[in-house]
Amino acid sequence: MNEFLKEYINLKENFIKQNESSESVSALYEFADRLSKHTEKEAIEVLVDVYQQLYMMESAYKLYENIYDKTDRKQIKKFLGLKDLNESHGDRFAIPRPLNKKERLKREERKKLLPKFRYHPDPLETGSFIEGEAKVCPCCGKESNTYYAKRPYAVDDVDYLCPVCISNGEAAKKYDADFIQDVDDDFEPDREKMDELFHRTPGYLSWQGEYWLYCCNDYCAFLGSVGTKELKEMGIADEVFEEYNKRKEFDDIEEYLVKDGSVCGYLFRCLHCKKYHLYVDAD
Ligand SMILES: [Zn+2]
Ligand SMILES: [Zn+2]
Repeated sequence: MNEFLKEYINLKENFIKQNESSESVSALYEFADRLSKHTEKEAIEVLVDVYQQLYMMESAYKLYENIYDKTDRKQIKKFLGLKDLNESHGDRFAIPRPLNKKERLKREERKKLLPKFRYHPDPLETGSFIEGEAKVCPCCGKESNTYYAKRPYAVDDVDYLCPVCISNGEAAKKYDADFIQDVDDDFEPDREKMDELFHRTPGYLSWQGEYWLYCCNDYCAFLGSVGTKELKEMGIADEVFEEYNKRKEFDDIEEYLVKDGSVCGYLFRCLHCKKYHLYVDAD
């Protein structure tokens, strides 16, 4: 067995044993960085597996495409599997690379400069905002390193909206756009709350579009996507599932709810009574 494979087996064992802890994920990413500097076939083969483990299907596919043995049935099969996963998943569901302590502190500083969203308190953490190379906001024409990961619901395709144009309502006005797909029909809040949610709140990434929950005569704050594992870690799994099951939507979701998986939970919290509420959708 080559040294790359040996190291990978160790890291993978940790990754599984530690339930995808951030240390074990960081270790895999660091390993991927190192592997990508090698040109030997053994290293690249292992890198394909590391990318797969991190759900980076597009990266895995593109790498494997160049190295697999087109006369080997087993490798052809693996290639075809990766090809499908590239099309269905790409790199969109990659486990995010954990920030180190310094990066995290810097990010917290940058967050303080972002506008505040009452119904979506941390859009950077939920993935609704992306940080990256500067993009020009189509609404205000200014460059921003933080921008909306989605497009608003509008006739035009509007990409890279900056947080400011969402929060001040300019983007909704300019493109006659909504940011949220849907809310409970039986809830009729006042006009101002509705306007704030639909026109000045970034939506969230989901399978079927946002479905915003409400409680205590107001919309809830969206906290992020969750699976059973995350709810258990937060110590709220029992209360959240008990309430969810009363709504008679999906059955037995405790067993298969996975953060950003094909059956995914979206966690909300009431701004008033502070109760947690769960919404679930599937691909
Ligand atoms: Zn803007
Ligand atoms: Zn409430």
